Amino acid sequence: MAETMTTNGTATDVQTFQNYIGGQWRDAASGETFEDRNPARQSDLIGRFPKSTAEDVDAAVKAARDAYDGWRLMPAPQRGDILRKLGDILTERKSELAHAMTREMGKPFFETKGDVQEAIDTAYYAATEGRRLFGHTVPSELSNKFNMSIRLPIGVVGVITAWNFPVAVPTWKMFPAVLAGNTVVFKPSEEAPHSGMLLVQAMIDAGFPDGVVNLVQGAGDVGQAIVEHEGTNVITFTGSTETGSHIGAVCGRMHKRFSFEMGGKNPAIVMEDADLDLALEGLLWGAFGTTGQRCTATSRLIVHEDVHDKLVDMLKARAADLQLGYGNEDATEMGPMINGKAIEKVERYVEIAKNEGATLALGGERATGDGLDDGHFFQPTIFTGVTPEMRVAKEEVFGPFLSVIKIKSFDEAIEVANNIPYGLSSAVYTKDVARAFRAMRDIEAGITYINGPTIGAEAHMPFGGVKGTGNGHREGGWEVFDFYTETKTVYVDYSGTLQKAQIDNVED
Ligand code: NDP
Repeated sequence: MAETMTTNGTATDVQTFQNYIGGQWRDAASGETFEDRNPARQSDLIGRFPKSTAEDVDAAVKAARDAYDGWRLMPAPQRGDILRKLGDILTERKSELAHAMTREMGKPFFETKGDVQEAIDTAYYAATEGRRLFGHTVPSELSNKFNMSIRLPIGVVGVITAWNFPVAVPTWKMFPAVLAGNTVVFKPSEEAPHSGMLLVQAMIDAGFPDGVVNLVQGAGDVGQAIVEHEGTNVITFTGSTETGSHIGAVCGRMHKRFSFEMGGKNPAIVMEDADLDLALEGLLWGAFGTTGQRCTATSRLIVHEDVHDKLVDMLKARAADLQLGYGNEDATEMGPMINGKAIEKVERYVEIAKNEGATLALGGERATGDGLDDGHFFQPTIFTGVTPEMRVAKEEVFGPFLSVIKIKSFDEAIEVANNIPYGLSSAVYTKDVARAFRAMRDIEAGITYINGPTIGAEAHMPFGGVKGTGNGHREGGWEVFDFYTETKTVYVDYSGTLQKAQIDNVED
């Protein structure tokens, strides 16, 4: 459905979008909608999306349950063929999807193209897994007996995601889930419903049978209804540690399998022997890419005292020059923050840092001026003189905000790096191979980059964090298939007699 509105004097069509349940596009049962706006240009209304409730979730879970038997019984290589076609469709639509994503959540076009590419890589990777999904065959301890383990799907998977990787992250979850034979109910963030809808449209066009993929738009209460529904067997969540803890309690009580990817406070250690030019590029990309709104963003620079002043000067000069603007314009290097609340949170942390005695080295304010006043822009911000016990050294700000901590030795660097409740990503810049290997072993994080920034996950590698960031599961790579399958152990006794394990074959 389209209506015409006027944005800055230009007539544009504003569409009203729907949920996708059991193979049909439907309005929310409530009939209500919510608005989705461009964070770089608030006057740009992208569309209206269904404000769903538990009633819509119930319909989606039932549709997913109805589709489950047909889907799980389709041979996995055939399921893989649909994912391969999906990879082709996403490849054809890469620019279109990336432009829509940039308009909706703000990161520049060159970044959203990377987001779609990650989805393409994930689709092709999952497609090939349809011809593997390995179990094990293991020798039996008894004669004429055959032992093996096989992988089976689990049921209906509830997928709840954040807005900052609105295409890539849902694909990390949905593609392996469906390849393994599960069906899904997907709730995108209310800040990125359009990207979620376009992704589901691509899945429909690839030929998934009705009910295998269901889309329910809405806010946190919709996510909560998915988690609490008796019919969802598995919950996979990406978002804040606070929301994740809440969901985890429900899943524990209801005996659901759940995986969490949550917040981070990622350190980049730069030692005195580092290539400072290389470190500078990595720090700029790590701290200010996606406007610092990545779970893997570099939010702490832990730098040796011998190179501290020089590196901070280099960083300030380059960060001050970053071109802010609407991400669908070619010159833009850093986009807006997602919304007004996110800006206010960064402002609060600027005050906290000042009150704790840190020194504002750059930024610290909303960015205004030509092309910025209608959006949620914040200046790249750097605080020096941060000590490990300060809140800005430990808490996730989720914005273009870098805390610089000076250290005297590598031992101290590792200690400071680990002095946080999170453990997602980490980076070390050094030319000393012994330090590099110590970092791999001793930093408490799911990911460590040597001489690279804290961001740069590849789709075929495991992704996830330790401590407050996760609960031990990994997305990406092969390990994700462990999460979306149940292992069944099978014994085939062809001896024709009763054989008792641990008894018949052991002499006292
Ligand atoms: P939130 O936790 O606010 O939201 C994440 C998702 O959960 C959204 O879809 C949200 O709905 C939904 N939700 C909110 N409340 C509930 C509830 N009670 N029950 C079920 N679902 C609920 O996170 P943000 O969207 O603000 O994302 C930013 C956070 O995500 C940061 O902490 C970041 O570090 C983390 N993140 C982690 C990643 C990782 O892989 N480790 C990757 C990307 C981000 P809605 O927003 O629509 O209300």
